[in-house]
Amino acid sequence: MMLRKTLSLTALLCLICGSVLANAPSLPREARVPGGVAFVEIPGDKAPARVMFGDYQVAVIRQDNRWVAVVGIPLATKPGPQTLVVYSGTDRKEATFNVTDKQYRTQKLTIKNQRQVDPNPDDLKRIQQEQQRSDAALSKFTPGADVPGLSLLSPVPGVRSDSYGSRRIFNGQPRNPHSGMDIAAATGTPIVAPAAGKVVEAGDFFFNGNTLYIDHGYGLVTMYCHLSSIAVKVGDEVKAGQLIGKVGATGRVTGAHLHWGVALNRAMVDPGLFLEPQTP
Ligand SMILES: [Zn+2]
Repeated sequence: MMLRKTLSLTALLCLICGSVLANAPSLPREARVPGGVAFVEIPGDKAPARVMFGDYQVAVIRQDNRWVAVVGIPLATKPGPQTLVVYSGTDRKEATFNVTDKQYRTQKLTIKNQRQVDPNPDDLKRIQQEQQRSDAALSKFTPGADVPGLSLLSPVPGVRSDSYGSRRIFNGQPRNPHSGMDIAAATGTPIVAPAAGKVVEAGDFFFNGNTLYIDHGYGLVTMYCHLSSIAVKVGDEVKAGQLIGKVGATGRVTGAHLHWGVALNRAMVDPGLFLEPQTP
């Protein structure tokens, strides 16, 4: 009798495990650190109207009959408790989660063109305008018919650097930390869209060279920098795997590579969390 009970309990537990595994998204991987992604359960039966983290709306997915906010954590976040604000009708609630510290490396780089480290006043004007365009593209939150799919294909084959988050010293001067992933590839290597989306910005940028932004919906926006050529234009709808441009060495670079940025609720998060791990 006892044995039968144990067996049926085991069977039941396995069934539960199976359903959990079947429904849990494998990507992005959760990492509650600056530059990472947090999955935060939102209590309640009905879909929340809106979940905000700071000034930005957050994607909410349905998982195991629960509503789960998928939150991009900005690199500059101070470790400690964080608050999401959840709006449903006239109701306002809070949901909290904790961010732990992560130490990123320091990288020293030498740039031949000193003007790309110390831009002149005209350059600074241009850079400011480009930052506004970039910010507008990266801040988009476009709802769609379906719940968001948040896993991505690698936009180019090649060795992925793990320099996301590293503090950067250009020609001896500290600059912003590295907010994306560099993938080593020769000039001319095709770049594909990592998921379906819409091209929302493209141009020749001072630091980033030929640059392209794709809005995938629900606050997931990807950017591609230093391209030798761009194969799509603003307004184009792209499919996952479609050619969008080619790798190059335009802008502030030390050699040809793709700089790939992934924004989730405007936070530039670690793109590696959205990819299947690379097999060595
Ligand atoms: Zn880069």
